[in-house]
Amino acid sequence: MGVKFGNKCDERHHQTVSIASPIGPMVVTVCSNGLHRLSTAIDHQFVPNPTAKVEVTGVDGGVDVLANPYVNDCIEWLSAYFRNDGHEEYASKPVIQFCPFVTNSEFYQKVWHLLRNEIPFGRTISYGELAALSGNERASRAVGSAMRNNPFLLMVPCHRVINKDGTIGNFSGTGGPTLKQWLLAHESHQ
Ligand SMILES: [Zn+2]
Repeated sequence: MGVKFGNKCDERHHQTVSIASPIGPMVVTVCSNGLHRLSTAIDHQFVPNPTAKVEVTGVDGGVDVLANPYVNDCIEWLSAYFRNDGHEEYASKPVIQFCPFVTNSEFYQKVWHLLRNEIPFGRTISYGELAALSGNERASRAVGSAMRNNPFLLMVPCHRVINKDGTIGNFSGTGGPTLKQWLLAHESHQ
């Protein structure tokens, strides 16, 4: 699998910021390489609040994390994503730098990159189509696995990957299919 660079992302230097959002609490993790993780922190049940502002609610890792450009880019992008006022163009393709050390899988990296760049706001793609786009039309299951392991919620829009028959399919993590449905509805301006 090519040259091993070793682990250049030291967990001890991760910094996290908790934020409020229309889909509930979220957590942004940054490292020296960029955005390391964006995830939900929904407790039990997904309770959307469409008017909630994207704002910082807690900081772990020093106050200076708020000055971290990756954190600010992330908050700005999320604000645009949820605003739903014609800024979809911007929201569809985050320009934020992603930490490359979140996985050893070149396939995951490839699929995440394709999804981020090729499937904009308001669009969907099937697992099979995404597999074909990644160069192996029989890799639907591997694509499903790449979705389950996606560390960049919304930015790598795994919620836009649906079943061939139009049903929404699985969605890992807290919120589950209810959250996925909400995001797809949000993107179709319902
Ligand atoms: Zn990292």
